[in-house]
Amino acid sequence: MIVIKFGGSSVSNSKNIERVLSIIKSKNTPCVVVVSAIGGVTNLLNESGVHAEKGKKSYLNKIDLIEEKHLIIIKKLLSGSIKESAINDMKKLISELKKILKGVFMIGERSIQTKDSILNFGELLSYQLLHSVAIQKNIDAKKKNTEELIVTYSEKKNLIFDYEKTKFLVKNYFKKNKFKFLIVPGFVSKNSKNKPSNLGRGGSDLTASLLANILDADKLEIWTDVSGMYTANPNLVKNAKVIPEISYSEAMELSHFGAKVIYPPTIQPSTKKNIPITIKNTFFPNEKGTVISKKKTKESIVRGISHIENISLLTLEGSGMIGVPGYSQKLLSVLSQNNINVIMITQASSEHSICIGINSSDVELAKNKINERFLLEIKSNLINKVKIEKNKSIIALVGDKMKNRQGISGKMFLTLGNNNINVKAISQ
Ligand code: ADP
Ligand code: ASP
Ligand code: MG
Repeated sequence: MIVIKFGGSSVSNSKNIERVLSIIKSKNTPCVVVVSAIGGVTNLLNESGVHAEKGKKSYLNKIDLIEEKHLIIIKKLLSGSIKESAINDMKKLISELKKILKGVFMIGERSIQTKDSILNFGELLSYQLLHSVAIQKNIDAKKKNTEELIVTYSEKKNLIFDYEKTKFLVKNYFKKNKFKFLIVPGFVSKNSKNKPSNLGRGGSDLTASLLANILDADKLEIWTDVSGMYTANPNLVKNAKVIPEISYSEAMELSHFGAKVIYPPTIQPSTKKNIPITIKNTFFPNEKGTVISKKKTKESIVRGISHIENISLLTLEGSGMIGVPGYSQKLLSVLSQNNINVIMITQASSEHSICIGINSSDVELAKNKINERFLLEIKSNLINKVKIEKNKSIIALVGDKMKNRQGISGKMFLTLGNNNINVKAISQ
């Protein structure tokens, strides 16, 4: 059994959906097919929620656009009774969605749970549509809503899934249901209170990896719009090259630092069961792509370079921190209690300062909470108010073998220096 996942651009129009179906058809083992929302739909859903919350009627225009995108595909690829029932299914979802948005519009408020349930409609629409097209093309496919199978903790941030509960539900379902192809939505889940939740933006990759883990799949294929994991973002770096083979830890590091071709939490469930992940291009299916596995390769020392933009650096410093245990723990706990993701940490060896890289969207909240938590120390002049530097980027050089090779960082700093790029913080 294998798990295959198609991203938003792979299902963005009727021509691409036909490509997807011919890839599915070419498989001769049972397949779980995980599908993302049609490209751009999750953003439209989010924008619609924002407009509704602000009391702007234009929220409805976004939903009309989503409906139109699906209708164009339905009209192009379906006919007869399959077409009719696909339109009905879509209309049912759209009217459910409109009800939720009307509520948001009326009360001018959107809770985390409401946000999640709105975003999930993208995948709920796309998996139903893909299933109808498969049936129209005489492909022996079933469908199942993964909102009923994947469970997250409600009290924490979305992307933390409850492995044991999910495993129980998935095993139980697959024991009772046999199939050649099973089409499921990526991204969506439910929380422990049985309400819609999801696995975070980009989370369809994680849905696929989680299912591959629980079902002991032979492999996981992630089909996207580029021919694999590249040495750098191919849309920005002209001479970036596809990496044919890469270890789990290298892929994890590259994706953590911005290579969005794979959602970082995806790697872990596959690593646990040693399931190889292949990244393939829906538009050029014959290209080999990248295989992510535990195999260490002999080639280059530096496997790739990735980067994240819109980073802010928070620096906490003061003579009161020297030799006093607990400052870092206290700082990190303020951030985690406020759901602020720490991307990078460095600490001066004098213990006089600690510097943390976070997303700029979190910086105001972080600043206020840190200054609040350290109020007494700041008042007693033991430490200074947290210092903020915005508009930074993190650049990561990744390779399993770098740690045993001298001269790599020298070369990196020389290159940055020669190009007048100032280094604010380093972490190895
Ligand atoms: P999907 O919708 O299929 O999930 P994503 O947009 O999430 O696709 O991921 C694919 C994109 O990741 C590529 O179009 C590319 O712009 C970006 N990307 C960033 N870094 C890399 C990299 N190192 N290798 C490949 N793609 C990368
Ligand atoms: N549709 C969701 C997003 O745009 C999940 C995904 O595509 O993986 O983030
Ligand atoms: Mg993605």
